[in-house]
Amino acid sequence: MKRILVTGGAGFIGSHLCEHLLGQGHEVICLDNYFTGRKANIVHLMDRPYFEVVRHDVTTPYYAEVDEIYNLACPASPVHYQYNPIKTVKTSVMGAINMLGLAKRVKAKILQASTSEVYGDPAVHPQVEGYWGNVNPIGIRSCYDEGKRCAETLFMDYHRQNGVRIKIIRIFNTYGPRMFMNDGRVVSNFIVQALKGEDITIYGDGSQTRSFQYVDDLIAGMTRMMAADDVFIGPVNLGNPHEFTILELAEKIVDMTGSRSRLIRKPLPSDDPTQRRPDISLAQKELAWKPRVQLEEGLRKTIAYFEEQLKQR
Ligand code: NAD
Ligand code: UDP
Repeated sequence: MKRILVTGGAGFIGSHLCEHLLGQGHEVICLDNYFTGRKANIVHLMDRPYFEVVRHDVTTPYYAEVDEIYNLACPASPVHYQYNPIKTVKTSVMGAINMLGLAKRVKAKILQASTSEVYGDPAVHPQVEGYWGNVNPIGIRSCYDEGKRCAETLFMDYHRQNGVRIKIIRIFNTYGPRMFMNDGRVVSNFIVQALKGEDITIYGDGSQTRSFQYVDDLIAGMTRMMAADDVFIGPVNLGNPHEFTILELAEKIVDMTGSRSRLIRKPLPSDDPTQRRPDISLAQKELAWKPRVQLEEGLRKTIAYFEEQLKQR
């Protein structure tokens, strides 16, 4: 049994991770400031004796004796990370410094939830880990993209300078139950709009692409990465290589929900990447991992979740 700290543990991905780790028999400390996370995501875990919840902001130091740290604290939806961009940079950068400091002090292994956003609007397709990216340092997405890039730098420097045992994963668009209804990301927006019969908001002409990964596949990849030999530190892409246009996604969701919603166009936000697909050969080779859940199956589960949420309202 390990004692594991999950920052951002009350968020969408964090709550699935906490649940998984408890299921594996570990003791879990879930740390969150509830900016985009919710107690509702973890309430079903509250009566587990080895589950502890701490209200804390990663921009200030936190101390606990732990064996492993998953650093997930950071808003992930463009709507939320652009709400207070200075705070987003602080969360990524100071959060990384504080958690790396803790890992150094207690000799814990630490995993950083980095992102495909480090590739920006990629000129290399599909994206391989060796690609340095095409990121605008002064745009509206920069607080998130550059914050996450700087966090990767800090992880590498704590590793080289202090021998901290690090792991970096680059997560591609992930979806599933427990996404926040007003999260603003494309999968939750389209499903909720379709279920409510509201207009489906396509930003731009919908020809931009994304590759959508179901949350269970990510949790499997993440925990394999943490368990892997210390020599393999990443960065490693974790995502589903099946690529869809945003228009295709909208049409699929309308079809699967039997919705009468109309597709409408809205302006494309600036710096919105035109294409994104992970090359996952490294994860396949080093972690013997690949995603198992294809889009339709994952969407079915996610639609059922949002149907239930809307009923409860
Ligand atoms: P989320 O917004 O649901 O979860 C983030 C959690 O971090 C929330 O519970 C939030 O309250 C918490 N948080 C934010 N700022 C904090 C702070 N200063 N101190 C403490 N807690 C704080 O988002 P998610 O989709 O679950 O993403 C989790 C992590 O994975 C993030 O680091 C994100 O950048 C990364 N990621 C996610 C995706 C994706 O598609 N979901 C893709 C790439 C990377
Ligand atoms: N998007 C859209 N309609 C929405 C929300 C998002 O067309 O209601 C588009 C967005 O412009 C982007 C893609 O969907 O091209 C994915 O957006 P999301 O915010 O989910 O993630 P990210 O851009 O960070 O990959």
